[in-house]
Amino acid sequence: MLTGVNAIAAFAALTLAAGPALCAGTHARSEAPADLVLIHGTVLTVDAKDSVAQAVAARGGKIVAVGTDHDILRLAGPRTRRIDLNGRTATPGLIDSHAHIADGGVAELFHVRLSDVTTVAEAVRRVREGIAHLKPGEWLEGDGWDEGKLAERRYLTAADLDPASPNNPVWLNHTTGHYGVANTAALRLAKISASTPDPKAGTIDRDSSGAPTGVLKESAQALVGDLIPPPTAEQRRAGILESIALLHREGMTAVKDPWIERPTWDAYVELLREGKLTERVCVLWSAGNTLDSARKALAEIQAQPRPPQSLGDGRLLSCGAKIFMDGSGGARTAWMYKDWNKDSTGVDAGNVGYPALDPEVYRQQVRLFHDAGVHVGTHAIGDRAIDWVVDTYAQVLAEKPTRGLRHSIIHANIPTEHAIATMALLQSKYDAGYPEAQAPFTWWIGDTYAGNFGPERSQRLMPFKTYLDKGVIWGGGSDYPVTPLPARYGLWSSVEREALKGTFGPHPFGTAEAVDIHAALRSYTLWAARQLFLDARTGSLEVGKDADIAVWDKNPYDMPSPELRNLHCEITLLSGAVVFDAHDGKGAIRGQD
Ligand SMILES: [Zn+2]
Repeated sequence: MLTGVNAIAAFAALTLAAGPALCAGTHARSEAPADLVLIHGTVLTVDAKDSVAQAVAARGGKIVAVGTDHDILRLAGPRTRRIDLNGRTATPGLIDSHAHIADGGVAELFHVRLSDVTTVAEAVRRVREGIAHLKPGEWLEGDGWDEGKLAERRYLTAADLDPASPNNPVWLNHTTGHYGVANTAALRLAKISASTPDPKAGTIDRDSSGAPTGVLKESAQALVGDLIPPPTAEQRRAGILESIALLHREGMTAVKDPWIERPTWDAYVELLREGKLTERVCVLWSAGNTLDSARKALAEIQAQPRPPQSLGDGRLLSCGAKIFMDGSGGARTAWMYKDWNKDSTGVDAGNVGYPALDPEVYRQQVRLFHDAGVHVGTHAIGDRAIDWVVDTYAQVLAEKPTRGLRHSIIHANIPTEHAIATMALLQSKYDAGYPEAQAPFTWWIGDTYAGNFGPERSQRLMPFKTYLDKGVIWGGGSDYPVTPLPARYGLWSSVEREALKGTFGPHPFGTAEAVDIHAALRSYTLWAARQLFLDARTGSLEVGKDADIAVWDKNPYDMPSPELRNLHCEITLLSGAVVFDAHDGKGAIRGQD
């Protein structure tokens, strides 16, 4: 069995041989029949002209023709597998440019689930239930709570959790991952008391007497988080497989996992080696918040093939580095020019958030990666943080002009006009400066967001329409588990911008920055593929690309947009292989093989 470096080198060699795959010619050798055809449907190609066809043919996992039923059936032979779309719609496999599928899968399988909790009492009940299965002293971890979804509209606190868990330490991650709540047992283990100062770039939430409430934000989370045993290798593998199964059910064939370290990479490589990585995954390595931690990440990145080269022929890509510039729109820690709001029209006086690291250190980190030819994705939510990030990209690109590194602004929630203009310039001049945005923020955490950004700023949140007007393209995503993984929610949110509960009205973000389904689909296919360095091989249904295809019950281009969120995936193909079939084989008509 191949192990470690040798295995990676073997995969790399395989992939280098295959190379980025776009056939120059459009002429499939007509003698050799296709081994797969999809016929009698509506095929949304998402090519440059947004062409719509009836059928697709593939051979050896690559698309060899797109056209009418007549064109495609001519390429079929007796052994060709035929999938009768029967009027259904095929699109490119959907792509998420930002989803923590490894960590999210672990949370899904092994933590207490709180994403659908609507009262404090229900959260406490689930903690009590979870504790019943633990030995005294064992940690309980939970995920997904959001005060915007609670009837009480307030944070969970240690005082809520203590009666349910007096002896076991508890840590419950907020859905954004930028804050969480500990019970008193956990605070005690972490030695957090009223006299503990806030760590750099972090906040220990306190009551009016100065006592910790249990809520810890940003870097303060590590005081407790570092004490929790990490998942085992087996749990990581199970988590990734859980997420892949969900991606397949939702017509999703590629994803960027944007914050990994060595154990997660090893889990991906192992699954790839076992033939179980039936999804395209591009990862960003955690750069940490010092120059030293960035150098360590760079060493990991430089040991892997450089994208678009991959392991496993387009399955696993070490895409680059991720840096956090600021915090969260949920915790009101993102770095803003003006004070955060509270309950929409209230003001969180004196709080403009803060950078997650020294901005000068950030600039040095970016320069380090850029000069080494490495892609950088930077988390930036607040307007001030986004300006700093795009100006940094502009500076390092001017110092060392390099096309095609596709440096990104992750989330890019509230860009200024200056930031948008800079993105447009960087995209055209250097193939860099791309927002990786999560439309479902306006929905899933939309009530919390609307309250914190306030009525005026909310209108400028994720300004997709302005992006289009200024020639800026973006990658769509979910930030799973911040919001649910299915990309159909992102398609719908891009068009509808509707908040989950409507605490501050159903459309607190307005609809002026909404886009139509054509742009939305592009952001979850071709434009996202670009940010995974996979645009030469997936993201549209064109000759020479891999046959990564999703089949849907309805045509997204021709249905009422409020129903986009209910799109139902029927079949998912990766490189021409069926990885999901909602009808257990009945939807796919096999050839004679
Ligand atoms: Zn994220």
